[in-house]
Amino acid sequence: MRTSARAGVAARLLTAACCAAYAACAAAADATSASNALARDMLAQLTAINTTDSERGNITTAAEAMAQRLRTAGFPAEDIRVLGPSERKKNLVARLRGTGAHQPVLLIGHLDVVEARREDWSTDPFQLVEKDGELYGRGTLDMKGPDAIMLASLIRLRQEGFRPTRDIILALTADEEGGGANGVQWLVQHHRELVDAQFVLSGDDYSVLVVNGKPLYFKLVASEKIYADFQLQVTNKGGHSSVPVAENAIYTLTRGLDRLAAYEFPFELNAVTREYYRRRAQIDSGQRAADMRAILGNPPDRQALERLSADPVERSITHTTCVATRLDAGHANNALPQRAQAVVNCRILPGHSPEEVRQQLVQVLADPAIAVSYQGSDGTLTDHAPAVRGFAPPPLLPEMLAPLDQLVAATWPGLKVIPGMSAGASDATHTSAAGLPTYTFSPLSVDPSDDREHGRDERISVASFYQANEFFYRYLRTLTAR
Ligand SMILES: [Zn+2]
Repeated sequence: MRTSARAGVAARLLTAACCAAYAACAAAADATSASNALARDMLAQLTAINTTDSERGNITTAAEAMAQRLRTAGFPAEDIRVLGPSERKKNLVARLRGTGAHQPVLLIGHLDVVEARREDWSTDPFQLVEKDGELYGRGTLDMKGPDAIMLASLIRLRQEGFRPTRDIILALTADEEGGGANGVQWLVQHHRELVDAQFVLSGDDYSVLVVNGKPLYFKLVASEKIYADFQLQVTNKGGHSSVPVAENAIYTLTRGLDRLAAYEFPFELNAVTREYYRRRAQIDSGQRAADMRAILGNPPDRQALERLSADPVERSITHTTCVATRLDAGHANNALPQRAQAVVNCRILPGHSPEEVRQQLVQVLADPAIAVSYQGSDGTLTDHAPAVRGFAPPPLLPEMLAPLDQLVAATWPGLKVIPGMSAGASDATHTSAAGLPTYTFSPLSVDPSDDREHGRDERISVASFYQANEFFYRYLRTLTAR
C-alpha cells in the first residue's frame, strides 16, 4: 500500500504540469502511478532472485519470472522467448510489434549482478529495502532498476494499445559482469534474427550526474573502451630460502610492476570524447573549463593536460589505462618462489587492439623474464591477444538524439545531453562489434561520488526511480511514434 501511495504522489507531481484538463490529468497520473508500482514490484522480485555468477545464482529464474510478467500483460507467447546456451544462464527476448515503418530498436539490459555478502551490507543485498527515500539492494543501480524500467515501459505501451512505428525488442541477458556465457554475444552470434535492429539502447549506465544535489548533465554513452586482462608470469627453478639467489621471481615481477605503475599511455581524443570536452567546457567553470578547452587544441596544451589528468576520471577518458589487480606468488614460506604471477587489467581506447597493448606492456615491463599472456573471459591464456580494435563511435542518429534532447530539457530545465565514452566495458561492446550502433543511457540520477555499483549498500533514490520510469516510457513512446 505504501508503495502505490508514494508512487501516486510522485506521479501526480510529474504529470501535473502537462495536463490541461483535470480528468486527463488524473488518468495520466493513474497510469503513471500504476506503472511505477509495477516497476517497483518487478525490481523487488528481480532483487530477490540471486543472479550472481556463483553456484547460488540463476539467471534463468529471473528471465522466466520476467517472461511471466509479459505473458500476464498480454504479450503473445510467440513474442516471448527464453533461451540460452546454458540451463542456468538463459536470456529473455521479447518483442512489441510495430507497424514496420522503420527497422526495430533493441533495448538491452543484463540480469546478472556482482556478488554481495550479507555481512558486508547494512541490509540484505538480496531483498529490496526502502530506507530514507532510497531503495537498497544488489543490482538496484547495475542494473535491475533499469531492467524493471524497460519492462514496465514496454508493458505500459502494450496495455495502452500503442502501435510503434518500429518493433521494440527487449533482451534481458546473462553474464555481463563475468562468466563465460555472455547473453548478448550469444544472441547476436546465434539468434541474430531475434535481436536484429537499426540501433540499440542499453540501460547500463546512469545518466543524470548529480553534484552537490544539483543535476550537472545528462550523459549519453556512445563509445566504450575495450576490456582486456593480461597475466604476467615469472618462473624459475626456485630453491631453498636459506640460500637466496639473485634471481627471485617475486622481485623480478614487482620491479616490472613498478615500471608499469610509472608508465602512462599516450593522451588521445576521439570524435565522442572531443565533443564531450567541448560541451563540458560550457558547463564547467574556471581553470577546469579552460583546461578542457586547452586540451582540444592542436597540439593540446601540455600543462592543461597535466592538470586534467591528475583527476583519475579524466585520465581514464583520455588514456588507455593498465593496472595491476591481482598478485600470486610462491609455494612455501621456506622456499624461493618458482613462480610469481600478476593480473593486469587494461581499459583500451577505441581504435587500439588488445594485442597492441600487450606489446606495449612487454616494452614497459622491459624484462624478457616476464611473460605477458592475454587472459580470455573464460580464463584461457594465449601468448597473443585479439588484434581487433575497439569500434569507432557511431554517428549520433537524429531520430535517437532529438527526442532525448527534448525530453531532457522538459524534465530538467537547462540540463544538456552530453555524449561521452565509458571507461568501463559493457555488453555494448558485443552489439557494436556486430555492427549495431549502440547508445547507453538510463535516466536515473546519481551523485558519482556516491556511486555504489559493485560495492556495498548499492542503492537508488525512490524519487529518481519513479522519475526515470516515467522518462523512459515517454522517450520510448516518442521515439517510436515517428
Ligand atoms: Zn552493468
